[in-house]
Amino acid sequence: MSDLLIKKENGWKKNTASKEEVFSFCDGYKVFLNNARTEREFSKEAIKAAISQGFKPLSSFERLKCGDKVYVENRGKGVFLAVIGSKSIEKGLNIIGSHIDCPRLDLKPNPLYEDSEMALFKTHYYGGIKKYQWTTIPLAMHGTVILADGSSVDIAIGDACDDVTFTISDLLPHLADEQATKTLGKAIEGENLNVLIGSIPDENEEKDSVKAAIMQIIFDKYGMCEEDFVSAEIEFVPAFDLKDIGFDRSFIAGPGQDDRVCAYTSLQAIFEIEKCEKTAVCILVDKEEVGSMGVTGFRSKFFEDTVSEIAALMTNNYSDLTVRRAFAASTCLSADVCAMHDPNYPSVLEKNNAAYAGGGIAILKYTGSRGKGGASDASAELMGKIRNLFNENNVLWQVTELGRIDLGGGGTISQYVANLNIDTLDCGVPLLSMHSPYEIASKLDIYMAYRGYKSFYTL
Ligand code: MN
Ligand code: MN
Repeated sequence: MSDLLIKKENGWKKNTASKEEVFSFCDGYKVFLNNARTEREFSKEAIKAAISQGFKPLSSFERLKCGDKVYVENRGKGVFLAVIGSKSIEKGLNIIGSHIDCPRLDLKPNPLYEDSEMALFKTHYYGGIKKYQWTTIPLAMHGTVILADGSSVDIAIGDACDDVTFTISDLLPHLADEQATKTLGKAIEGENLNVLIGSIPDENEEKDSVKAAIMQIIFDKYGMCEEDFVSAEIEFVPAFDLKDIGFDRSFIAGPGQDDRVCAYTSLQAIFEIEKCEKTAVCILVDKEEVGSMGVTGFRSKFFEDTVSEIAALMTNNYSDLTVRRAFAASTCLSADVCAMHDPNYPSVLEKNNAAYAGGGIAILKYTGSRGKGGASDASAELMGKIRNLFNENNVLWQVTELGRIDLGGGGTISQYVANLNIDTLDCGVPLLSMHSPYEIASKLDIYMAYRGYKSFYTL
């Protein structure tokens, strides 16, 4: 009985994919992410790539037939892509959902101030961060501003290749005795995450002369006045490019991999579909890091409305029931990252149910916290289906839990997808240092996520 017990073997040794194949896929990933540092930029890059792969706006179709490739953008911060299948929509959709928002520092609506001969920006952090990780690193400023005349300006400054960058200061250790007695969560206050942006005063101003000088530079560069910050969405993100890690280049480190690693791999997967039986959907959403709410989060009606639009163009007698039946027959992979076993912190995962570097795409039957609180618990039937699918398609996979029992917890979009009466399973790439400015993923796991997602569209 060779299959009586699970064989544990290093993923690289199993030779399910050549190192060249894995590395070359990951080179494309690094380039894409370096150009997509916010949800808006990711959405834009995803659509650019989709158009080059033959996708067209849904609004350009009067009827949809098998093989049609469509996309809909949601307010510049999310994308719905579909390849129309040969079967009726009531037979269900194969959906992969991931998120393209990441933890970061947002500017407050009134951010600019001067203090002690320095100009600074006030930020309000977005998502779950360990605040101390965001000081004393280079930060880039990215965003969109709506000016008084209604026109919009995109900003991207401070990245690795630029000549300037920004940062948040921290105390010198010599004077940090008091700070060092505080807990990790309290040592850096949210209201102290203020970005340093300049110090040369405007000679003609008496009061707030540094602030005035900086505002003048911003005006010259972007045409912005101080009030325009009110109608802006500006993010400070780590100014690091994605880079190979290790002598063997087996890892990739960089910001924003939660969850753009799953967004990128599912996007590449749908790009490779020419014909499918069930309609294939790849949805990239915003706001997962803060609870999936709002018009661009998964809980918005956008997803249902877009499926309804597609259903109406695929059927002759569309009714509300068409979409309900489509959902009931659909399957979804909630493509999101999970914790990778960290030899520096082995106690937070239980070793038999942990994801390891190079173990492949990780499957989570449930997330949640404590007694599976808040979890969308995938059925044994769905686990069975996906496990067989991955085995048949040579996809290296592993199972994991979110962490050791009673240590914490979290969730993804899976519960909101499942609430629509869609069978849903969490499945994604394990990360070290998740939510930090320098997240780490294994190249083999990234590649296997892509291969797994691609096989899912044949389900
Ligand atoms: Mn995530
Ligand atoms: Mn996250």
